This record gives sequence, structure tokens and C-alpha cells, in this order.
Amino acid sequence: MKNTRETPVRVGIMERKRPELVTMLPIRHLSLFERLLRAGKRSLIVMGTLLMLGNAAVLMIPIPHFHLCLFPLAFVLGPIIAIMSWRDRVLCSQTELPCPRCQKTVTIPEGIGGWPARFNCDSCAAMVELNEA
Ligand SMILES: [Zn+2]
Repeated sequence: MKNTRETPVRVGIMERKRPELVTMLPIRHLSLFERLLRAGKRSLIVMGTLLMLGNAAVLMIPIPHFHLCLFPLAFVLGPIIAIMSWRDRVLCSQTELPCPRCQKTVTIPEGIGGWPARFNCDSCAAMVELNEA
């Protein structure tokens, strides 16, 4: 993948504050344009879905004005999603690493982004946290 390079990452778990270990992981660094594109795409999907729901609600839900609430919601949520996606500068690739708690191999889910990136260990359900080293 483009812009993917080995990046030092601090691996820790959320509940315990103990020295985290630093591992090299292949991390995709998003360019400005990619971040813009990703933010735009995500907010459009969210806004589109809510607007479609709003339209469907007009026909299907007999509560007056219920659908009217979905339109402002779409225009508030859209930019929020855009800003949140914009702040993600990195994307993790699917990589295996030992869980900091139980030492079993866990796979980082594809496409989680931003610091800290969090995911659950399959074996001990610990919240594994990845931070920029
Ligand atoms: Zn674990």
C-alpha cells in the first residue's frame, strides 16, 4: 500500500499504566489529500444515510415532524464525522502482535486509524492501545 512504512508504535493496555513496549508496525501515513477524501466520503455517507432515513420516515413513521429532526441531525453529524476522520493521520494495516496482557497473538483490525488506535484482544478482551512513539 502507498505510504505504508514501518513506524515505531507504543503498545499498551488501557487499564494498567505500566511501561509500554515499542514495536515497529507497518502504518499507513495518510497524505493531506487522502485525509480530505476520507473525511468527505465518510461525512457524505452519514449525511446521505440520515437524509434517506428522513425521507423514508416521512412515509413510514406516523409521528408528525419526526423526520424533520433527522435533517438537522444530518447537517450536524456530517461535519462532526468529517472532522473526526480528518484528524486521523494514520491507518493501521492488518498486523499481528503479541497482546501486552496475555501475550497471545492478536490481529490489529484493518483500517483503524488515528492515535490512540484501540481494539480488543480476542483472548483476554483487554483493550489494546496503540500510540505514536
Ligand atoms: Zn490478550
